[in-house]
Amino acid sequence: MLQLSKRAQNLKTSPTLFLVAKARELASQGHDVISLTVGEPDWPTFKAPSEAGIEAIQKGITKYTPANGTLELRKAITEKMKHELGFEYTPKEITVASGAKYIIFAALQMLCSPGDEVIVATPYWVSYPTMIELADGVPHIVECGELENFKITPEKLEKAINLKTRAFLFCSPSNPTGLSYTADELKALAEVLRKHPHVAIISDDIYNRLVFDGSKVAPHILSVAPDLRERTVLVNGGSKAYSMTGWRIGWAAGPEKLITAMADYQSQSTGSPSSISQHALLAGLRTSESDINGVVEKLISRKVSGLKELQAIEHFKVAEPQGAFYFWVDIRNCLGKTYQDRIVRTSKDFCDILLEKFFVATVPGAECGTEGFMRLSFAVSEDTMKRAVGRMRDFVGQLV
Ligand code: PMP
Ligand code: GLU
Repeated sequence: MLQLSKRAQNLKTSPTLFLVAKARELASQGHDVISLTVGEPDWPTFKAPSEAGIEAIQKGITKYTPANGTLELRKAITEKMKHELGFEYTPKEITVASGAKYIIFAALQMLCSPGDEVIVATPYWVSYPTMIELADGVPHIVECGELENFKITPEKLEKAINLKTRAFLFCSPSNPTGLSYTADELKALAEVLRKHPHVAIISDDIYNRLVFDGSKVAPHILSVAPDLRERTVLVNGGSKAYSMTGWRIGWAAGPEKLITAMADYQSQSTGSPSSISQHALLAGLRTSESDINGVVEKLISRKVSGLKELQAIEHFKVAEPQGAFYFWVDIRNCLGKTYQDRIVRTSKDFCDILLEKFFVATVPGAECGTEGFMRLSFAVSEDTMKRAVGRMRDFVGQLV
């Protein structure tokens, strides 16, 4: 009889990607589904990278490249980092892979030995704990709720660190809350980390260009604590700021020892990232500044109108996001109530009914480690968001 590995038996599918598939299935049955599930821009990949992708195919740039990406692209990434954050990296300290997700996966694979702990605060991006487990590590989940504004505090970080701690993994602006760590907050976390040199830092910067306070980029831990550079890996990619989700292209910057290990790991697993996507990203990095600014403007206006709509539902509480494109909605006032004959006990119950009866797809907070909340992506048109919130209002209005 076919036997799967222990790893396969414990594996759970990505809830975000599962929910996308579920929403698509309902749509294919003819339902008018509004999907606020997946964290994916609704605007097309910008013109320059799109054309560069076509050019790559036409010119035959369709072969293997070095496993860690072309030197030209890695150089362009170092220039971008210098320009955006003032950080100096060499191409040897950069690796390019098939998406930031794979970058995080590879970093964890290269950092963790069996039983090593990786600290992750709630609410977290759905994939972090499973990725840690796939690296034979143990997710050390630190509960951070409303009281901490959903961000880890230095005290909580200090308490979570022990001799088994291998890494601290965090994302700012955050998926799912859209909240960012301030420079002062990062400084305070860095002070704790400085005392524990065995702890690596994985800074997931995938949303760091999508910030709403007029600054170019979100505050970074290495800007306030450059001395942590030799144990910090920075994660980024084309998916969000460049709207290149389907191109599957991301990168890491970090100490050469770790980056080389990650590149070797890639060379034995996915091989080189797509040559076409690399060529496209190169054009994106060189030309897309004004496109990114336009996207940020668009997101700000969607944030303002979406917030207004959501705040008009009296059972909901929503914090104003500072970046990324998610609303983190407090639905605790709806739990314990009944919809027709179903008791809405959890965020999953709430989101299931919202999808099955009102055809609005969202992500339950429980998937991010925090019960009583729901994540909505506002990378959709204002009209789409308005229609979705209208259906939420109908649902909530029928709860007794
Ligand atoms: N980190 C976070 C927090 C994300 O939301 C995403 C989105 N998928 C990723 C990493 C990975 O992005 P990708 O693999 O598309 O580059
Ligand atoms: N990061 C996105 C999300 O959270 C994409 C989906 C995924 O890769 O899980 O929705």
